[in-house]
Amino acid sequence: MFGQMQDSPLLVSQLIEHAATLYPEQVIATKTVEGHWHEYNYKEAALRSRKLAQALLRIGVKDGDVIATMAWNTYRHFECWYGISGMGAILHTVNPRLFPEQLDYIINHAQDQYIFIDTTFVPLLEKLQAQLPHVKGYILMTDSAHMPDTSLKNALCYETLIEQESGDFTWPVLDERQATSICYTSGTTGNPKGVLYSHRSSILHSWAITAKSVGNIDHETCILPIVPMFHANAWGLVYASAMTGAKVVLPGPHLDGKSVCQMVNKYEVDLTAAVPTVWTMLLQYLEASGETLESLNSVLIGGSAVPRSMIEKFETVYGVEVWQAWGMTEMSPLGSLNRLSKQDKKLDYQQQLDIKVKQGRPCFGVQMKIVDDNNTTLANDGSAFGRLMVKGPWVVASYFKSDKSALEDDGWFDTGDVATIDASGNMQITDRSKDVIKSGGEWISSIDLENAAMGHPDIQEAAVIGVAHPKWEERPLLIVVPKDATNPPNMEHVLHFLSDKVAKWWLPDDMAIVTDIPHTATGKINKLGLRHQFKDYKLPITQNA
Ligand code: AMP
Repeated sequence: MFGQMQDSPLLVSQLIEHAATLYPEQVIATKTVEGHWHEYNYKEAALRSRKLAQALLRIGVKDGDVIATMAWNTYRHFECWYGISGMGAILHTVNPRLFPEQLDYIINHAQDQYIFIDTTFVPLLEKLQAQLPHVKGYILMTDSAHMPDTSLKNALCYETLIEQESGDFTWPVLDERQATSICYTSGTTGNPKGVLYSHRSSILHSWAITAKSVGNIDHETCILPIVPMFHANAWGLVYASAMTGAKVVLPGPHLDGKSVCQMVNKYEVDLTAAVPTVWTMLLQYLEASGETLESLNSVLIGGSAVPRSMIEKFETVYGVEVWQAWGMTEMSPLGSLNRLSKQDKKLDYQQQLDIKVKQGRPCFGVQMKIVDDNNTTLANDGSAFGRLMVKGPWVVASYFKSDKSALEDDGWFDTGDVATIDASGNMQITDRSKDVIKSGGEWISSIDLENAAMGHPDIQEAAVIGVAHPKWEERPLLIVVPKDATNPPNMEHVLHFLSDKVAKWWLPDDMAIVTDIPHTATGKINKLGLRHQFKDYKLPITQNA
């Protein structure tokens, strides 16, 4: 027998209307591309989102059309999220840090009809536009006073476009399974793949994010989402803030340590989110300037493993609690979050850190398991490691425009990560399956080695790759950027430093000093690039190796 409750669809337009009705005066502040601060509130954001929806209809956009954005986190981009998806079109958030050939591929693959762009990206799209024949026009996210001269075909001004509308618009009642948006994976091998989210998946994911045991977000929270809206949905924070009426601070393109510190202090931000590279810049700035982060309670860090030294510095020096998150574009993106249990909090701090370096427990809605190569489920004992599989209503089922399922026969999605799960359900990523170092039939976690090396006082950044070895198949090569290029750390000291942190047979066979480590478009260490760079590298072979 079915329940007898209303079956009203879950739609993202309801989020912005909810915020406008219940928290009309709540502030949304933006450090604009032009460099000044812009402030308005949910009531105005909702009105302008409706005007945008009307403008899109006027220029001929239809239900199901794909409309792209290539933009920083700003109030206009925020309006696009609601205006485009709310009227029934599909928002494609393009990551401008992708290589030009990947941009060309994804814009053509998605068949974007219009592209909303920040003026920063005008030169990039001017070069690309000849390869994008189906794009009908480019909408520059600025006002008429700041419209640049451009060769972009059919260049429209955002403010001019929406000022002609009244905002007197009723959002259509869509099917909740209808698509809201597309994000492409950064695709380190092969072409990027599109993940097509639905209204239903977006709302359920947003509810999960706001929960006390996850992001602990409500109308008293002030959120600074540094994680870009063009990468993995800004971790759902755009929707979660409207759902709860939280105050929002949007950083525009200003992501350096000084700017982030000023934003936190100016708006009394208490929750912020970004990948570790952003935090390295902020911590360096704080150390050099002596400034502090008075209001900040917690920082969500994900996208790559969070080094223990980073957690310790945030918590012991600046009094900011670190919540490590794990997820992926294919998961909207949240999968798990590390929040200590009451019991964990009674442990001494170093033992708490042993837990905090893990990627945490799945939030409600996500199921997780680890399996071996025969697809047999492994024990949750904290030591067995295997392929991490997930399931849930905001996990991809198939990729955009692919008629093949993205799932295994039993309905689980293979994340491509290798992990352990302990008895309390804390998952720990040990590697991407293609980055794990295979030495003498055993696996060495490149991530564990990198994290341990990052704690060395003279190391700025560390990466570890497997290099061919005549006896062991592969052995680890440690690649480091020193803090002081004129006085790099010596290998003996580094090995000694690592010796009580990892198993002896994991210790790197060699260390290379470099001036920088390449990163992917989403801020992760580009292992593929490093493997290419070091493809002819010969490890020193010792007598007993
Ligand atoms: P993306 O789709 O670009 O968000 O990348 C997803 C991948 O980033 C995951 O499959 C992981 O390999 C990696 N990742 C995300 N969060 C973490 C984390 N906290 N620790 C380690 N790796 C992570």
